[in-house]
Amino acid sequence: MISRRAREIGSFLAMELLDKARQLEAAGRDIVHMELGEPDRPPPPEVVDAAYSALEEGYSTYTPTQGIAELREAIARFYQREYGVSVSPGRIIVTMGVSPALFLVFGALLETGDEVLIHEPYYPPYPQCVRFMGGRVRCVKLDPGAGFPIDAERLLTEVNADTRVILVNSPSNPTGMMADREALKAVVDAGKMIVSDEIYHRITYGTGAASMLEFTDDCFVLNGFSKVYGMTGWRLGWIICPERFAAPLHRIHQNFFLSANSFVQRAGVSALDGPQAYVDETLEIYDRRRRYLIGELGRLGWRLASEPQGAFYLLADVSSTGMDGMTLAERLLDEAGVAVTPGVDFGEIATNFIRFSYATAIERIEEGVRRIEGWLR
Ligand code: PLP
Repeated sequence: MISRRAREIGSFLAMELLDKARQLEAAGRDIVHMELGEPDRPPPPEVVDAAYSALEEGYSTYTPTQGIAELREAIARFYQREYGVSVSPGRIIVTMGVSPALFLVFGALLETGDEVLIHEPYYPPYPQCVRFMGGRVRCVKLDPGAGFPIDAERLLTEVNADTRVILVNSPSNPTGMMADREALKAVVDAGKMIVSDEIYHRITYGTGAASMLEFTDDCFVLNGFSKVYGMTGWRLGWIICPERFAAPLHRIHQNFFLSANSFVQRAGVSALDGPQAYVDETLEIYDRRRRYLIGELGRLGWRLASEPQGAFYLLADVSSTGMDGMTLAERLLDEAGVAVTPGVDFGEIATNFIRFSYATAIERIEEGVRRIEGWLR
């Protein structure tokens, strides 16, 4: 008998669509990929070199469960430099990305039935992870008419006695919207535990993102190397936790994951401590694509209610086509050879939307737009 937990977990539509796109490619079709939340740029060369060197130096064993000291110290320095906050390495746990970090944090926080507030549209694994850990999800629908800003007032109207955690993701996947400092502060003032997924920090087009740690130490901050350094497949991230959670999180990590990959942790030190010109260059590249795509979507009649300030996604309202996002995404893939993600993946509120990722070469984005335009005609 398959467990209820396993039966109830939903699949990630974006991944299913990717499988379908790959099948079409295997059959000889050329597909433009705008469904992937995966940077197209390889990691900085010095980071790749650091990984090679670490392998040569024998970094191939388990490491301390909480991560190697050098990396935790580099992460602590990063918080000081980037946000002016002091984090002791004892509060840092190095994980194999933000995905296992979510599993660990909700495993450490939730009792059966505890409620987690999530702003919708959301990153699809959030509700799955909360339910898997026995929690209940309360979605707070953001305003589609305003482009889904992360509105603290709206979020906080849903806080009640059962609320155990408020989950914040800013800049957000899939909207690219950012909570401003006042909104973060208001969330802290609600007095609930906060989990802040900051994986898109440093991918911002204007004002930088503030960390939840600037407002409170009593929160969990999740971040990693996947998006900023193009290291999705390397599997490396971290958790900053309140002091009292460090030991229980270590125990959970030890039992289920042992440690993050050892040579990859060495490369992580090089990424954080090395020159950061790569990050600035990548941002310029993304910004050019972002501006191009915003203009073109407007031309196609899929105007965005608000310009996203971060990440590398655009969530476009496609109601003008008379189709919902799922139907449109399926047809675009089959008939135009363009892969995008249906909005419904990110919650019911985004049913009439599709998400474009611009973490793909500008020539391919231009080709995608040409195909969509031709298909629409
Ligand atoms: N959090 C958000 C909001 C994401 O969009 C993603 C990946 O798309 C992740 C977490 C997963 O990150 P990682 O590669 O560190 O597991």
